[in-house]
Amino acid sequence: MMPVVALVGRPNVGKSTLFNRLTRTRDALVADFPGLTRDRKYGQSKLGEHEFIVVDTGGIDGTEEGIETKMAEQSLAAIDEADVVLFMVDARAGLTVADEAIAAHLRSQQKSVFLVANKTDGIDADSACGEFYALGMGEVHQIAAAQNRGISGLILRALEPFVEQFVADNPEADELGEQDDDVTLYTEEDAEAQAKRLQDQPIKLAIIGRPNVGKSTLTNRILGEERVVVYDMPGTTRDSVFIPMERDGREYVLIDTAGVRRRGKVHEAVEKFSVIKTLKAIEEANVVLLTIDARDGISDQDLSLLGFTLNAGRALVIAVNKWDGLSNDVREEIKRELDRRLGFIDFARLHFISALHGTGVGHLFESVQEAYASATQRHNTSILTKVMKMAVDDHQPPMSHGRRIKLKYAHAGGYNPPIVVVHGNQVKDLPDSYKRYLMNYYRKSLKIMGSPIRIQFQEGA
Ligand code: GDP
Ligand code: GDP
Repeated sequence: MMPVVALVGRPNVGKSTLFNRLTRTRDALVADFPGLTRDRKYGQSKLGEHEFIVVDTGGIDGTEEGIETKMAEQSLAAIDEADVVLFMVDARAGLTVADEAIAAHLRSQQKSVFLVANKTDGIDADSACGEFYALGMGEVHQIAAAQNRGISGLILRALEPFVEQFVADNPEADELGEQDDDVTLYTEEDAEAQAKRLQDQPIKLAIIGRPNVGKSTLTNRILGEERVVVYDMPGTTRDSVFIPMERDGREYVLIDTAGVRRRGKVHEAVEKFSVIKTLKAIEEANVVLLTIDARDGISDQDLSLLGFTLNAGRALVIAVNKWDGLSNDVREEIKRELDRRLGFIDFARLHFISALHGTGVGHLFESVQEAYASATQRHNTSILTKVMKMAVDDHQPPMSHGRRIKLKYAHAGGYNPPIVVVHGNQVKDLPDSYKRYLMNYYRKSLKIMGSPIRIQFQEGA
């Protein structure tokens, strides 16, 4: 579903620049997970309605020695997980030995590779790029990442097998930088249909977390308690396993990133942790169950996974695992730390559990249900407009250009996450503080718990 695009090339060709361009303000997930090189970065990107994952594989120049070789191997391993490789070279520097070494490696792999000549701004690009044909990688795609030139066209080409219809519909998509943010807006009627669909579907619940936090233990615990019908989805190790299950009369599909089912089947010892698998699981889920290890505290990686979940608009429940065998003092200390570091997500329920002993696992599902209900609960125009008016009555929007910013009415623009579309005059000038105020007002009034909520502003009627 979500294609993975890897950026490969020697240092300094512009991989980070392109990565930042593609992922824009979204947080990059810097992968210092054990066993992965530290400078590999993962990000989400979007062209039109089509989302994809971008991996900056870090610098490799093909001439590494010693410890560098190990790191380069890991960068090259990232290529394995990719659907498409963008092999970047520097149009100003010309062809180098390192480029040739990387090309040789890429040729030995069965991958779809696009040769990309960057920094074509301000030079005679056609003649500068001529020599790159010697790499034997076919067409040379010219871009200027720093100038945001040629990128959309390139991505459209690269993703074509995945998004054929989209390309057919949008032969001249806008440059990435000029897009709005990442919300797909539905009309009122479509939003209503979407909510109904979601309410009739099984809840897709992804269990995610860093290695060793207890995901497999928790998955087994949940499955052990339930009557489970398992079906096997074909897939590679970078895909999660989907496990349908039922609980309290509600249907679920567990998205198992730890590979419990697969492991049981092929007697494999440990599933390889894959960031891409986790990101895909988040995208595919309705509700994310982020598992963290009470004994490790909150790490930057936990925060990154959280950031991805919020960016994707998924409902969220947090399980603090390994709560067994801790003294009260230690527990108090951990809670203070969680408060301090997770204070910014005020809507997600926090559960203290022991997957090993099964303590607290049942209650998780109460919060999962609540989060899903919040994410899919329908709100009609009259309610949304009424809440908006109450918010305005309590606290007027500020003036702009000598006139007061006016909010007129609101309607639903989608669910999971709930999106409220607010129409008004001069809404572009609304300060962030007011937007936040309105969002919190909606959250409280509509009692939305466990799901992020988004507000989109539209000028005029
Ligand atoms: P990386 O090591 O491959 O990640 O390369 P960076 O993204 O850090 O870029 C290396 C240098 O090239 C930086 O100084 C960038 O500003 C510059 N650069 C990147 N893209 C372009 C471009 O399109 N045109 C020009 N002129 N410079 C660029
Ligand atoms: P995963 O990599 O996230 O799937 O983690 P595992 O489920 O494989 O667990 C990693 C280690 O933590 C194993 O040794 C588990 O026995 C242990 N573990 C998991 N859950 C708990 C728990 O609730 N309490 C304690 N004390 N250990 C746990």
